[in-house]
Amino acid sequence: MKTLNGISGSKGYASGTAVVKRDSPTVPERYETRDHAAEEERFRKARSVCRARFTELEERAAHDIGPSEAEIFGAYRMILDDDAFFQKALSRSKSESVNIEYAIYEECRGVVALFEEMDDPYLKERGTDIENVCGEVIACLSGAGGDFAVEAGSVSDVIVVARDLTPAETVKMDKARIRGFVTERGGMTSHTVILAKALGIPAIVGAEGLMGEIAGGERLIVDAYEGTVMVDPDEATLSAFEEKHEREKKLAVEYALSAGKPAQTIDGFHIDVLVNTGDADSIKAFDAEKCDGIGLLRTEFVYMGREDYPDEDAQYEVYRDIASRASGKEVIIRTLDIGGDKQLAYMGIPKEDNPFLGYRAIRLCLDRPEVFQTQLRAMLRASSHGCVKVMFPMIVTAEELRKARECVELAKESLRGRGLPFDENIPVGIMIETPAAALLSDQLAREADFFSIGSNDLIQYVTATDRMNERVQYLYDSCNLSVLRAIRMVAENAAGAGIPWGICGEVASDELLLPVWVALGVTELSVAPSQAGKIKSLIGRIDRAKIAPAVERIFDMRSIQDVKDALGKLQG
Ligand code: PEP
Ligand code: MG
Repeated sequence: MKTLNGISGSKGYASGTAVVKRDSPTVPERYETRDHAAEEERFRKARSVCRARFTELEERAAHDIGPSEAEIFGAYRMILDDDAFFQKALSRSKSESVNIEYAIYEECRGVVALFEEMDDPYLKERGTDIENVCGEVIACLSGAGGDFAVEAGSVSDVIVVARDLTPAETVKMDKARIRGFVTERGGMTSHTVILAKALGIPAIVGAEGLMGEIAGGERLIVDAYEGTVMVDPDEATLSAFEEKHEREKKLAVEYALSAGKPAQTIDGFHIDVLVNTGDADSIKAFDAEKCDGIGLLRTEFVYMGREDYPDEDAQYEVYRDIASRASGKEVIIRTLDIGGDKQLAYMGIPKEDNPFLGYRAIRLCLDRPEVFQTQLRAMLRASSHGCVKVMFPMIVTAEELRKARECVELAKESLRGRGLPFDENIPVGIMIETPAAALLSDQLAREADFFSIGSNDLIQYVTATDRMNERVQYLYDSCNLSVLRAIRMVAENAAGAGIPWGICGEVASDELLLPVWVALGVTELSVAPSQAGKIKSLIGRIDRAKIAPAVERIFDMRSIQDVKDALGKLQG
C-alpha cells in the first residue's frame, strides 16, 4: 500500500477502482503549408463545431448539475470568439507557413505561460481555461476524438485519476458510476473542485507525482478530508475505512434531517440556526426549508464586478428576492462593509497603511451619505416582502450607532414621501466585532435591537493579530481566553438588556466551542449553509444544565491548550 497527498478540494470519502485518463499528445503535428485560405477555412469550420459543442455541453451541464456550473461553457464560447487571439494564430500560420493547429498551439503556450506566472490561483486557473478551449479546437482540427469518457464495462465504482480534467470531460462522464476524482494539477478554485462540490463527489487535486504512481484497475481509498489517496490498501485498512465511511453516510442523513427542524438542547433550550450568504451563487442556492433564515447577508457582492455604485432599484431587486424566498424567516442584511481587505476601485479609497484600522464599513457609510441612503432605502423597501433586519458592521461607539439609526429614519422619511411601503418597526442591530463594542456592550444593548458577534474580526482586534498573516496565526485562536471573555461580556450585557444575541463569524460552527455558546445562552448561530444541519444536530445532543459548570471553569483557565483540553472532554 502507498499513500499520496494532495489538496482536499471537495470533502468526503470514497473507495473504488482507478480509471486513469492518459493524456492524448498535447503537441499537434507540425507541417508546412502555403495554402493560407485553406487553413483559414479549416479554422472557421473547427471554431463553429466547437461553438456548437460548448452550447450542447452548457445545456447538458445545466440539466445534470446546475445553471452556475454550466456558465463555464458560456465563458468558453467567449474565449473561442476572441478574434484578437485567433487572428494572431492565423497570422503566425501565414507568416511561418505552418498548419493552423500548430500555430494555435504555439500562441496558446505563450499566453498560458503568462497566466502561470501569476500568484493569484484564480487567475492561474483562467490560463487553464484558455488551454482547454485551444485543446478542443486543436483536437477538432487534427481529427482527434479528444474526449475522455470512462470506459464502459464492469467497473461500477470509478475513481477518476487524471493529470487534469476539463469541464467538458467532467460533464460528459457517467456520474452514477463516479465515486471520486484525483488530479495531479488544479487548486481549490479549479473547475474539477467546483464541479465535484456541485455533484457532491469527493475530489483531491494538486496531488504531485500522481500519474506515475497509479495504474488503471488498482483499488483506491480517497480521504478527501485529509487530502490522501491510498493505493492498493490492505484488508485491515480497507475495512477500517469502510466503517468510517458508513458512519459518515449515516451522519450525513441525520444532519440533512436536522436542517429543517427546530434546534433545541436535551433540556429544551431553543437556538435558531441561520445561514451566512454573500455571493450570487449562495443566494441562488438559499433554501429556507434547510435553516431558520439568514443571519448574515454580506452585501459587498452587490457592489463588486461593476464600474460604479449599484442604484437603489438594482439593490432592491437582490434584497427583495431573498426576503420573499425566506418564507417569513428572518433575513439580517448587513450594510456595506467595504474597506479593510475588500476594496473597490470606483470608490476611490486612498491606499492606507493600516486598512483594517482605517476607513471601512460604517465609517465609510457615515461619511458618504448618498451611498448609505441608497442602500438603506433598498433594504427598507425589501422589508415589505419579508422579515428583514438591518445590521451595521464595525461599530465602535454609541454615537456611531445613533448616527446610523438617524440615517435609517431619514431613509424611511424619503420612502414615505414616495409612498413606498416598508416595515416601520424594522429591527436595527449591530455587529460586535471590535473590542470597543464588546467593552461598551452594556450601553450599546440599550440602543440596538440585537447583537451579532463577528468573531472573525473580533479575534483579530482583541488579540491584535492580522487574520491574514500566517506567521501569527498561533495567536488568532478562538480559544484565546481574551476572546471568550469578551464574548461572555457581550452575552451577559445582551441578556441584561433583554435583546437577542447571536454569532455570525466562523466560530459559530466550531464544534469544540458549541457547548460554550449554548451555556452562555446564545439565541442564534449563523453558519455556512453546509453546516446548518450538523450544528442543529449537535445542539440536540447537549444538556445545557449539565455542561454549564464545566464551561464556567473554562473562563479561569491559564492557557489556550488548557481550554482546548477541557472543551475536548465536553465532546464526550
Ligand atoms: C466577522 O468579522 O466575523 C464577520 C462575520 O464579518 P466578515 O467576515 O465579513 O468581516
Ligand atoms: Mg467582520
